[in-house]
Amino acid sequence: MASRHITAGLTEEHVALRGMVREFVDAWVMPTASEREEKDEYPDDLIPKLAELGMFGITVSEEYGGSDMDYVSYGLIFEELARGWMALASLVYTTSSGGYLISSFGTEEQKARLLPDIVAGKRMSGIALTEPSTGSDLKEIKLTARREGDNYIVNGTKIFITHGKHANPLVTLVNTDPSIKPAHRGGISLLLIEHDTPGLSYGADFKKMGHRGLELCEVIFENAVVPASNLLGGVEGKGFYQMMGALDRGRIYMAGASTGMARASLEVALDYAKQRETFGKPIGEHQAIQHKLADMAIKVEAARLLYINAALKTEAEGRASAASGMAKIYATEMGVEVAYEAMRVLGGYGYIKEFPLERILRDQALMPIGEGTNEILRGVVAKEILANGL
Ligand SMILES: Cc1cc2nc3c(=O)[nH]c(=O)nc-3n(C[C@H](O)[C@H](O)[C@H](O)COP(=O)(O)OP(=O)(O)OC[C@H]3O[C@@H](n4cnc5c(N)ncnc54)[C@H](O)[C@@H]3O)c2cc1C
Repeated sequence: MASRHITAGLTEEHVALRGMVREFVDAWVMPTASEREEKDEYPDDLIPKLAELGMFGITVSEEYGGSDMDYVSYGLIFEELARGWMALASLVYTTSSGGYLISSFGTEEQKARLLPDIVAGKRMSGIALTEPSTGSDLKEIKLTARREGDNYIVNGTKIFITHGKHANPLVTLVNTDPSIKPAHRGGISLLLIEHDTPGLSYGADFKKMGHRGLELCEVIFENAVVPASNLLGGVEGKGFYQMMGALDRGRIYMAGASTGMARASLEVALDYAKQRETFGKPIGEHQAIQHKLADMAIKVEAARLLYINAALKTEAEGRASAASGMAKIYATEMGVEVAYEAMRVLGGYGYIKEFPLERILRDQALMPIGEGTNEILRGVVAKEILANGL
């Protein structure tokens, strides 16, 4: 689908970038995504191609080989990647999030040592926040990092970590000073955890409904020894706020990705509506189906406008939590609805694995839960409009 309407609001660079990623996805991802997903296969072979396209450098400063793209480009990239296969968007997101945090807050040594390899696709990355006892309320994390000489001794467990085993470094939220209450006011830091960390191990992968292709694992720290030089930025107590900025960005990613998957759903429904005939005419000529198609198209366009708005606001204001929250809430809930509506356009065939809709529906189902649940984000939006109006 050409997405003609919104193109008018984008720069030539945006349109060219979107075209480049779309071409890659059409050639390399669309034809194999369902098979890869069914096999739960890690897309090793696509990493060099993604690196060649500069996908791992989108959040990294030019000094270290990245392109430090604007937020609109960022959203557009994830729309295109997720239209092909959500796991690929997730792989680029987790790695570029590590890149963003290191590029924005890292010491010179951390940047010089890690960023060129991240940009080149030689090192993957990821983010570890969630613990068995807390996901939404991150100031309650229990994983501790106690300074001993030149090292931190880390104890505790992270769960549900996407790309956790591949991530090297895994940017991990830790409590460096349990005496500080509430912990987010200076007690929380970010540590860069590398594969060779003594005392680090991985629990079993969780079996999951969708988002297959990337592992979702438990990361266990038992008196793990992490060099103090791996404290992000070399300063304790700033981790919570550093991570919140990354999560705002993550909401543009989620909104972009859900928009892309919804577009893929609609594309399948449109093709089918032109071909399938009932009662002597293509089903696309029945008004009930036309209304479904029109409603889906409106929702996809609206979701894109919301994430572009959030991206432009973030660009202008540094952070735009309410706008990013609105985009994430709308796009991710819309994505679930559109995947299911598209499935209904196909009737029984929509439910069959020959078509990608059941995969997309399973992948969309996580989107209202990840990167800040939509329940939490409605609270963020409400707080903002109660304080400052619309
Ligand atoms: C496939 C997958 C991938 C993931 N990847 C990662 C990853 O890479 N890194 C990572 O750190 N985590 C990851 N997660 C974890 C995910 O971010 C958390 O599951 C999510 O943040 C919710 O946390 P929770 O599960 O602890 O739910 P809880 O925080 O226990 O929430 C349970 C329910 O209560 C609601 N709720 C909680 N507090 C409030 C409130 N104040 N007001 C209203 N409602 C509230 C929530 O919205 C939710 O509906 C992943 C999870 C999955 C399933």
